[in-house]
Amino acid sequence: MTHRVAIVGAGPSGFYAADGLLRANPDLHIDIIDRLPTPFGLVRTGVAPDHQGTKAVVRQFDRLLAQPDLRFAGNVEIGRDLSWDELAEAYDAVIVATGMVIDKKLGVPGEGLPQVWGSWRFVAWLNGHPDFRQGPDLSQVRCVAIIGNGNVALDVARVLAKSADEMAKSDIVPDAGAAIAAAPIADIYLIGRRGPENASFTNTELAEMGRLARAVAVTDAKGLDVAPPATDSTPERLRKSKNLQILQGFAKNTPGAKPVTVHFTFNAAPVAFAPGQVTLTTGKLAADFVVTCIGYTGEDFPRREQFFPVGWAKRGPTGTIPTNRGEAHAVAKQVLDWLADRDPKSGPDILPIAVDAAGWHRIDKHEIAAGVAKGRPRVKLTDWQALLDVAQSS
Ligand code: NAP
Repeated sequence: MTHRVAIVGAGPSGFYAADGLLRANPDLHIDIIDRLPTPFGLVRTGVAPDHQGTKAVVRQFDRLLAQPDLRFAGNVEIGRDLSWDELAEAYDAVIVATGMVIDKKLGVPGEGLPQVWGSWRFVAWLNGHPDFRQGPDLSQVRCVAIIGNGNVALDVARVLAKSADEMAKSDIVPDAGAAIAAAPIADIYLIGRRGPENASFTNTELAEMGRLARAVAVTDAKGLDVAPPATDSTPERLRKSKNLQILQGFAKNTPGAKPVTVHFTFNAAPVAFAPGQVTLTTGKLAADFVVTCIGYTGEDFPRREQFFPVGWAKRGPTGTIPTNRGEAHAVAKQVLDWLADRDPKSGPDILPIAVDAAGWHRIDKHEIAAGVAKGRPRVKLTDWQALLDVAQSS
C-alpha cells in the first residue's frame, strides 16, 4: 500500500508540490485535480501572452505528467464533482493549491461600470480562459487608466501598448489581439497610489516598457527625487533604486513621440469612476477604459490538519512563479512528515472520469497545430465544449 495525495489546483505551486513529493518518495500516488480541462493554472491563464519565456516553465510540469503514479484530473471541480469531505476521506493528505482567482475590489463608486475591469478578468480574456470569453469593447477607447503599480499593471499596459507585430509571436487569443490592434488607444496611464519609490514593479519588467515599438514611456521628473525607504531590506532598496533610475530615463522622453504614450503617474489614488472619467485624489482624468490591477483574493477552503495550503492559497498573491518552488518543496516535506506517522488509507478510488494527461495532450497538440498555420506558439481553444471534445477525441 502506498499513500495517496490529492493536489487541488494544477498551477505552478501544485506542480512544484508534486515535484517535491516525488523527489522524496517516487512511490507516492498523486492526483492533481483542476476545474479546468487544462493544467498549469496561472501560467496558462494569468501570465501575459507575450511573455512566452515565463510560460516555458510548463515543460517541467508536463514532464511530471509522464510519471506513472501521477494522474491529472481536469474538468473536476471541488464542490460540484467531489466535496472537500470526500477528498479528506479518500486521500491521506490534500494539498490545496487553488491560487487566488478573484479580483480585489477598490470599493469606490462606479467600480461596477462596464468600462471598469479587474485585471484577473482582463488577463484571463487575453489568455483564452473559457470562463472569460467576452472581452471589453475597445473600439472607441483612446485613453486607458490602469490602477496599481505592480507587475500585473505593467503586463496590462504592455499588452495594450504593443504593436500587432510585437504580439505576433504571442499566444494572445485572436479576438483579443484583433480588438487591441484595432483600438484607437493613444494614452495609457499607470496610476500608483504611492510614490515611485514604493512601486512593486520588478526592474526587468519596468525596463521593458522603455523598449516598445509603438509606445513611449513618460513620467514627471519632479516626483523622482526620492529614495527607497531606509527600513527596506538591501535587495528591496536595490530594486527600488534601479526602478527610480529607469523612471528617470522615462522622464527624458517626449509624450506623443510614438503613437501611444504610457504615463507613469504616482501619488494618485482612485476616488470614483464615471463613464469616460476617473476621479483621482489629484484631480480628474478622462479615461474610456479602466483596469484595476490591485491584487486578488481566493475561494475559501476548509482548514483541517490533513489539508496543506501552498502557493497563493497559503501566502496570498505575491511573488513570481519561481518563488513557489522552494515554498512548495517545503510544504511537500511537511506532507511527507505527516504521512510518515500514518498508515495509508485503503478506500476506493473516488476520482471521477476526467480529462486525463492524454486528454490534455490532445488539446495541447490541437492548439499547437492551429498555431503553426499562424506562426504563433499556439491558438488556444477557449470554449468549454470544444476543449472537452478535443480532450475526449481519439
Ligand atoms: P502587487 O505587486 O502587489 O501590486 C498591487 C498594486 O496594487 C500595488 O501597487 C498596490 O499599491 C496597489 N493597490 C492595492 N490596493 C489598492 C487600492 N485600494 N487602491 C490603489 N492601489 C491599490 O500585485 P500584482 O501586480 O497583482 O502582482 C501579483 C504578484 O504576481 C506579484 O508578486 C508580482 O510580482 C507577480 N507577477 C510577476 C510578473 C512577472 O514576473 N513578470 C508578472 C505579473 C505578476 P500599494 O503598494 O500602495 O499597496
